[in-house]
Amino acid sequence: MVAIVTVNTGREAVHPDTGGYASTVERRRSRIGSWPVYRQLTGTDRRGLGAAAKSDHPHVARTSTADQVVKSVCPYCAVGCGQNVYVKDGRVIQIEGDPDSPVSRGRLCPKGSASLQLTTGGSRQYTVRYRRPFGTKWEDLDLDTAMDMIADRVLAARRHGWQWEVDGDRTRRTLGFASLGGATLDNEENYLIKKLFTALGAIQIENQARI
Ligand code: SF4
Repeated sequence: MVAIVTVNTGREAVHPDTGGYASTVERRRSRIGSWPVYRQLTGTDRRGLGAAAKSDHPHVARTSTADQVVKSVCPYCAVGCGQNVYVKDGRVIQIEGDPDSPVSRGRLCPKGSASLQLTTGGSRQYTVRYRRPFGTKWEDLDLDTAMDMIADRVLAARRHGWQWEVDGDRTRRTLGFASLGGATLDNEENYLIKKLFTALGAIQIENQARI
């Protein structure tokens, strides 16, 4: 007869005279044997990089159902870690570190690892949000309207703040607007922004450096 008493700690109290004693000890041994640290210390994989770190459960990669993989760069910070974006039926289903990236070699920090949420999360914005001067709430604008408003403001800033000369030196510039790029901009985008703003006469052009 097996006498097993389970208490809140989850430990099992077994009387040594019972028939189940041997099997309980065996079960405990096998439980300890499945502990990765034990396997690491007692086996040949001392650094825990191979067999010692593997579990017995079969694992299926969460990317296994993807029908396409697209190379990308993490949108968050200036480190610019490489990402593989896994797509199924035209929708992003997972984002993982890109082992081919010379910057990150497959690694992503916790924020970069959560990029899927940025792409598919319910709080993602799909419209231009605008808060007019002295307004107290945000309004939705369609993209064409927003682009026209930006163009009008750029033209007005150039018209009102253009400097042909300063202290006798030819400047041909405006201090009426500037460009401050965020971390999500990559090299190519920053290159185009720099060209555009320089051509418009701006001299205050900055970005968060990325590859
Ligand atoms: S994964 Fe982390 S460190 Fe790398 S770019 Fe993204 S936010 Fe920066």
